[in-house]
Amino acid sequence: MAPVAQLRLKGVPLGWVQAVLFDKDGTMSHSEPRLIALAEARIQACLSQVSSGHRARLRDLLEGAYGARDGRIDPAGITAVASRMHNLIATATAFAQVGLGWPEALNRSEILFDSTDAAAGSEPAAAQTTEGLAPLLIELDRAGVVLGVISNDQTRGIEQFLSAHGLERHIRGIWSADHQPAKPNPMAVHHFCAQLGVDPATCALIGDADSDLAMAVAAGLPHALGYTAGWATKPRLAGQHLLIDHWSELTVHAADPANPA
Ligand SMILES: [Mg+2]
Repeated sequence: MAPVAQLRLKGVPLGWVQAVLFDKDGTMSHSEPRLIALAEARIQACLSQVSSGHRARLRDLLEGAYGARDGRIDPAGITAVASRMHNLIATATAFAQVGLGWPEALNRSEILFDSTDAAAGSEPAAAQTTEGLAPLLIELDRAGVVLGVISNDQTRGIEQFLSAHGLERHIRGIWSADHQPAKPNPMAVHHFCAQLGVDPATCALIGDADSDLAMAVAAGLPHALGYTAGWATKPRLAGQHLLIDHWSELTVHAADPANPA
């Protein structure tokens, strides 16, 4: 299968592609409100576990550890990018810093994560798409570009997000935390490309985290594009990647068989 369309960023041609792979959280999905709510629910549950004299310090420790302050999530912070287990360990560490022994700190963290996550999980499809996503996906799909989602969310969460916004018909495949290896192992990209039936050498990957873009480069993808509009605080991306500040900056031009250049 040959590349089918040319991607352009702010009008500048990037190259011809067969497929575009999208990260979900912070890229397709405006995840910040849900993550703020989850972090605050965890903080409130933690504060209820300690005496009033420790609460101000514990809140400060947790806000710093979570990267959740002033109604914003740090896109490079633990709430935004790390696994549930890493968040749980950070919580237990904050408990230890206000005087709990480690077994007790860990035990309390496990119990309160179970209760707060159950409450947060009751609205799995609540996240909005990032602005302008749907028109771009429709345009890419119409041009014959294969579209995939590569995320560390579970398959169920990805499917619920896509169907809540009527986007599932444009997405050819999903590579989730249920697949092995998971992101950010570059082999995840290779396995996913094989599943989609596309050549990695003609794919683009778009994500909001350095780990996404480093994975794409390590996997040999010619296009690793950073997306910066998914958070109130712009992600600070380390690599020399081209950046998308709004989906309208990315356009697609289908191949003309009579004049492919
Ligand atoms: Mg992301």
